[in-house]
Amino acid sequence: MKKLYFITGSQDLYGADTLKQVAADSRQIIEYLNLRLKNTAEIVWQPTVTTSDEAEDVFIKATADKDCVGVITWMHTFSPAKMWIRGLQILNKPMLHLHTQANEKIPYESINMDFMNLNQSAHGDREFGFICARLGVKREVAVGYYKHDCVIEKVRSFAQVAIAVDFSRRMKVAMFGSNMRDVAVTDGDRVESEIRYGWNVNYYGIGDLVDLIEGVTEREIDEKTAQYAEKYEMATDDIVSVKEQAKYQIAIEKFLKREKVSAFTDTFQDLHGLNQLPGLAVQDIMAKGVGFGPEGDYKTSALMAVMCKMALGRLGATAFTEDYTYDLTAGDEKELASHMLEISPVFAAEKPKIQVHPLSIGGKQAPARLVFDGIEGEGIAVSMVDIGSHFRLVCAKINLIRQPQPMPNLPVARLMWKLIPDFKTGAAAWIYAGGAHHAVVSTALTVDDIRMFAKFTDTEIVVIDENTKLTDM
Ligand code: MN
Repeated sequence: MKKLYFITGSQDLYGADTLKQVAADSRQIIEYLNLRLKNTAEIVWQPTVTTSDEAEDVFIKATADKDCVGVITWMHTFSPAKMWIRGLQILNKPMLHLHTQANEKIPYESINMDFMNLNQSAHGDREFGFICARLGVKREVAVGYYKHDCVIEKVRSFAQVAIAVDFSRRMKVAMFGSNMRDVAVTDGDRVESEIRYGWNVNYYGIGDLVDLIEGVTEREIDEKTAQYAEKYEMATDDIVSVKEQAKYQIAIEKFLKREKVSAFTDTFQDLHGLNQLPGLAVQDIMAKGVGFGPEGDYKTSALMAVMCKMALGRLGATAFTEDYTYDLTAGDEKELASHMLEISPVFAAEKPKIQVHPLSIGGKQAPARLVFDGIEGEGIAVSMVDIGSHFRLVCAKINLIRQPQPMPNLPVARLMWKLIPDFKTGAAAWIYAGGAHHAVVSTALTVDDIRMFAKFTDTEIVVIDENTKLTDM
């Protein structure tokens, strides 16, 4: 399990007894947090920091420990902040400044100077906050008694974002083919992506996949097809087409495993050696949290893998989508999101149907795909674009809705949602911000999670929510 170092600050003016109490209180807080956060990350106690050398040592240790994804700091007593400078200058991992107390309430009857000197995070955390601000240390601040649910949820969210940032730093992304010819928004600076996010994005010829496809056995195909039949409704007689997708999925998964790749792209413009565009194959893979971007959209693919990592253990669905068409009924506008095939079944409100239909572009055989109506609920849509000088995240709150009427002639999976704060503002704000037509939609994550990710990766973020006004755009 990934670790978070818990670093408590104090100083040596208080004497041994106070420092003993500080350490005991820290351990108690950690014990409680670990109880509540189990299966997310393990919080690991570190000796109380009272000098510059100790601060330097603990941040060197945190930075060097590959299992440590971030640090939690807390100033139980006063801790003169010049002693943190050297240490903080070393830290290169996400930091949560936990502004809490060992005690929930003030013991009004018994409080004396000893108690107040021991429990003075209101004082010490401000001193520490100042030096973080002065040094420009990117950090999240969680405020409140550590046993309160809102504080626990904040720590959990931080832990999940820190784990995702760590995962992102060593993530490999494979592009089968390049991005779709002439399309601007799916392109990007892959060197900068690796510097900023750690994404090692590499091109592979589709032939590398074709080699693996040719090695897939009939038995493997039959097994995969049986799994499809179990999970999905087989609403086609064209089993040959379904088996073709099974073959692609087996080959793609072998490739991902062999190359240690967590996210991939393909493009309908480069399918040499394939009879169909991967549809069902990609949909079933996406449901496992593997990142995918169509038309060579490596940014969306990588972002999806990172967001799926962030959402691990949470209720809700996270995957790629594409803005497609609108219902523009005045005052009741709705958006329909879909793709030519590749919508993840994590969004299905019903048992997905396997169907086979021709594809109007690409000039290949009719591919098998999953068709379903989408779930409802609150969510976010997140897009990453390359603005030239930097990357920008556009994060919009959305309300997923059930489709108002059946769409029996639409041969693809679809989601529908309402924009926030209203259709015109939401759509215009997205377009002003340069948000793409590809996005990662999540009903598991919140704007705050994405804001935190943006902060720790030093990425510009445009949030579109109930407070958005076009006059600000
Ligand atoms: Mn697309």
